[in-house]
Amino acid sequence: MAAATMGAVRVLCGAEKERVVGAHKAPGACPRCGGAVVAVDVESERRVLGLPLCLKSKRKYSCTRCLRRLVTLCG
Ligand SMILES: [Zn+2]
Repeated sequence: MAAATMGAVRVLCGAEKERVVGAHKAPGACPRCGGAVVAVDVESERRVLGLPLCLKSKRKYSCTRCLRRLVTLCG
């Protein structure tokens, strides 16, 4: 009950919802532990009053071994 109410409030405020579209192995290795790097495509949707306002997709890189979020400098 309480959780549902919280969700409704978040939607009204235009909460951003992220959905993982796909993940695939990326070239390179983690600079920290040398583990494999995985690229995750995430679709981010912002909704206001139930209406989709904008949809953007971004790619996130993270290490599969130490789970560290990796940032690429050159796109
Ligand atoms: Zn790592």
